[in-house]
Amino acid sequence: MSNAELAPLLRRIADYAGAYRAGAETRLHRPELNFADVQARFDMPTPESGAPADEVISELIALSEPGLAAMIGPRFFGWVIGGSHETGMAADWLVSTWGQNTGNAYATPAAAAVEETAGRWLLDLLDLPRDSSIGFVTGATMANFTCLAAARGEVLRRAGWDCEAQGLFGAPAINVVLGEEAHSTVFSALKYLGLGTERVIRVTIDEQGRMLPAAFEAAMRNVTGPTIAIAQAGHINSGAFDPLPEIAPVVREKGAWLHVDGAFGLWARATRGLAHLAQGVELADSWGTDGHKWLQTPYDCGYAIVRHREAHYRAMGIAASYLPEGPDRHPADYTPELSRRARGFGTWAMIRALGREGVDEMVTRNCAQARRMAQRLSQSPDIEILNDVVLNQVAVRCGTDLDDETANALTQKAIARIQREGECFVGGAHWCGRQIIRVSVINAATTDADIDRGADAILSAWRAEREAAA
Ligand SMILES: *Cc1c(COP(=O)(O)O)cnc(C)c1O
Repeated sequence: MSNAELAPLLRRIADYAGAYRAGAETRLHRPELNFADVQARFDMPTPESGAPADEVISELIALSEPGLAAMIGPRFFGWVIGGSHETGMAADWLVSTWGQNTGNAYATPAAAAVEETAGRWLLDLLDLPRDSSIGFVTGATMANFTCLAAARGEVLRRAGWDCEAQGLFGAPAINVVLGEEAHSTVFSALKYLGLGTERVIRVTIDEQGRMLPAAFEAAMRNVTGPTIAIAQAGHINSGAFDPLPEIAPVVREKGAWLHVDGAFGLWARATRGLAHLAQGVELADSWGTDGHKWLQTPYDCGYAIVRHREAHYRAMGIAASYLPEGPDRHPADYTPELSRRARGFGTWAMIRALGREGVDEMVTRNCAQARRMAQRLSQSPDIEILNDVVLNQVAVRCGTDLDDETANALTQKAIARIQREGECFVGGAHWCGRQIIRVSVINAATTDADIDRGADAILSAWRAEREAAA
């Protein structure tokens, strides 16, 4: 394609993107069409002949737009979803423009070098050991996987077994100790790694989902041989932190490996006011976190951070005759993939754009906004906040005066109504035996006014469902 053709196409996309982003605030915070309807629109025969780029793009926009979720919207409180910040998005356009296959430092010096600096900035912001190694992965799922692969290899190496060469058959058994409400993707990682989802030791938790220190200690006392302990910084419903200052010394004494799943919670460490929540996290051996949650990078971006560079390299390093070697850090040696997107550019751009102060301000503000949301909702006498809102997550229980079955059913209806009305978006979950509304505040664009509008929408939907049932 000549520049005479390409430039107008890109200008058109730029205009479209600008308008789309500007409309995020006023657009309904839900897709217009459901999956089946969008699928029916996309469902056409394999094209026999090609089409001009301009037409392809027009068609793609027309087909997709009604099925898009307002995940960048300032009142999108579903799951734990960052806002894909405009600066990160612009950097991501450059990533596509440059088309760098980000495996090897000699093949792409810039994509490799930017990871070095962005990685150093990350360790600085998150206040983790400065000589840790970092893999730029797709998200916390792959970060947990990568870190636990390093853990698996290292605990077996200490037991005299070379897992990378010999695999797991005949290896000493590895104990995996984790909290009863470890994130589902931790179990995915255990599944991929041959460690199994069911042969784990589950530690009893408190009402916020935190491991009980005494129960953790008892579990660790009973294990012998290679052991991996997995803690979390930021529980998906409560935002709570496992008691790392108590957990870490127990793990250290045992010669075990401690991994922390800190997909969003790790970012408390990038603030002055909330860092104490994640105290002790720095004592771990590895950490998984996301860029596309609190750092607001576009999808996809996560970081596998490992204190022991050699263990990380042994687990992920890749060698081939056609890959230039040498002393420099090759991005592919720290991630599961060889060919991949140049995620360092977006990370660099977001940290450069926000700075230490901006990250602190955003995380602190989102947490204050979560408290504001909790406060407004709990003014209704039949609504209770089930968690201590220490971070950005709010677990809302509706119908405290109703029996559980009625309250759960009405809460589900209220969630459906909130989503249908589209003023804001919330999801639900089952937690502590109850149906809850889950509110997650994790978008740089969210204002206090958005919180108030969201709270009003939640309250009015709940009241409407109560009245309809009365
Ligand atoms: C979101 C999340 C994950 C998974 O992260 P992805 O970015 O979806 O891969 C893992 N752990 C926790 C605690 C999370 O919140």
